[in-house]
Amino acid sequence: MRRLEGKVAIVTGASRGIGAATAKKLAGSGAMVIINYCGSAEAASQVEYEIEQLGGVAKSVQCDISDYEKCKEFVDCIYKEYGQIDILINNAGVTRDGLLIGMDEDDFDKVIDTNLKGTFNCMKFVSKYMIKKRSGSIINISSVSGIMGNPGQVNYSASKAGIIGMTKSAAKELAARNIRVNAVAPGFVESNMTDKLPQSVKDEAGKHISLGRFGKPEEIANAVAFLAGDESSYITGQVISVDGGM
Ligand code: NDP
Repeated sequence: MRRLEGKVAIVTGASRGIGAATAKKLAGSGAMVIINYCGSAEAASQVEYEIEQLGGVAKSVQCDISDYEKCKEFVDCIYKEYGQIDILINNAGVTRDGLLIGMDEDDFDKVIDTNLKGTFNCMKFVSKYMIKKRSGSIINISSVSGIMGNPGQVNYSASKAGIIGMTKSAAKELAARNIRVNAVAPGFVESNMTDKLPQSVKDEAGKHISLGRFGKPEEIANAVAFLAGDESSYITGQVISVDGGM
């Protein structure tokens, strides 16, 4: 069903994994999708190609979302070209795992700058145009790590818990302008990010997942697409866990 027909959506970090699955899902529902990436131009073009092959409309656009000025330029350019931004999915994220005691300052800053500040940057610049239109839906990708904590991830869980706080505050600020802001907190999902984990960590994680398996990017994309469209029109300021029952 083309329930997002006529909408323009930005998905950050959409060159692979959850972002790519989300871009495909939104495009399959009729939205015009901006596939944002930072360094993986080829992978982002491939996502664009796959969407177009299925009859969707998409464009890949480079921007390091942790850079305040570049992010402003990126959002302004999209608005100038398409005249509207209806949906923003703040999905871009990185990990730099390590125990607190040995964590470098750079590893802390990189994760906070990309995951938390990047989400702030995009929300700030996009919400200006959503306020103008008096409508919009923003979905921020948090993590189970931001809710429960996870050893080796003080930087990452701080960024993801921060995203939840930011989501709830922005939801309260923007509700009067008919803009909804929600978060999705995935559990363990098959992607480049979890491919890097040692097998012992994956086995241990598996023991805490009721459904007994890692999720697929498409299973996160389904929840995001629900929050993006009008079926969720009375939901704002919420965090939906999509974690197989962790
Ligand atoms: P991947 O590592 O597979 O993909 C990350 C994406 O983010 C890539 O497209 C990458 O693009 C992009 N990206 C990274 N830095 C930047 C930046 N500065 N500016 C723009 N884009 C950037 O991750 P996943 O698909 O696994 O994760 C997606 C989101 O879901 C993340 O926020 C992650 O924290 C969250 N999440 C993932 C879980 C999992 O188990 N996989 C669990 C819980 C949450 P490029 O290569 O071009 O840099």
